[in-house]
Amino acid sequence: MTNITFLGTGGGRFATIYQTRSTGGIFLDGTRRMHIDPGPGTLLRMKQLGIKPTDLDAVFISHSHPDHYTDAEVLIEAMSRGGLEKRGIVLAAESVIKGDGKFGPAISGYHCSLPEVLKILLPGDEYDLGVRVKATRSFHADFTTIGLQIFEREGMIAYVSDTELREEVIEQNMGARIIILPVTRPLGERIKGHLCTEDAAKIVEAIRPELAIFTHFGLKCIREGPNLQAEWTWKKTGIKTIAAVDSMTISMREEITASRRVGVQKR
Ligand SMILES: [Zn+2]
Ligand SMILES: [Zn+2]
Repeated sequence: MTNITFLGTGGGRFATIYQTRSTGGIFLDGTRRMHIDPGPGTLLRMKQLGIKPTDLDAVFISHSHPDHYTDAEVLIEAMSRGGLEKRGIVLAAESVIKGDGKFGPAISGYHCSLPEVLKILLPGDEYDLGVRVKATRSFHADFTTIGLQIFEREGMIAYVSDTELREEVIEQNMGARIIILPVTRPLGERIKGHLCTEDAAKIVEAIRPELAIFTHFGLKCIREGPNLQAEWTWKKTGIKTIAAVDSMTISMREEITASRRVGVQKR
């Protein structure tokens, strides 16, 4: 069974600044334990939900915006047991490690030296960490932004990261059983570099996954109601679409089920 826990479901500048929703990214507990896009609050949310950072096998950072990377260095220290063991896998966009002149680097040289594997992924690159993953191209202000596909036994999970709607985003993600879409903006509020609800619905309609999950809600989207955005999409496409909430866990087996992870705060 593969579990996907949404530590945070907020995104964009103001939802992050005000922590209207948490920005702790996604914890994937499948063949490997991987954190995806550890924004501000990740460590706090892990503590609240009883997830041990030191048990992580891998961290993925899709691009160099703070709502996706700020807690990454501490997670790297956790994976490497405080820097004492060369342990853990870091998969990241190019800007995260090298910087692109405007964004990043998001991880210091010291932290780059801690993991057992540090790998820059370009669109199309694959890596096998016990489970095969593949980077996909996203279209965002950080031009090196990548999405990630995880090929678990139960099916492929696609996370497109921050992107605007392009045909390529659809083509690359055909075959996803679950697609995770950052819907920064609500209906009628399209902005460059992000998905609004209409854009997300086009992706869902074309890919026809078993389940589409909206997350990474900006402040306007939160005010308008993430559930309304998901319901509109479900009705328009006929594909099951839900709005993630903080602490939601999606379990992928033969069936896909949703539950709320209850906090088990230890020490
Ligand atoms: Zn973002
Ligand atoms: Zn971004």
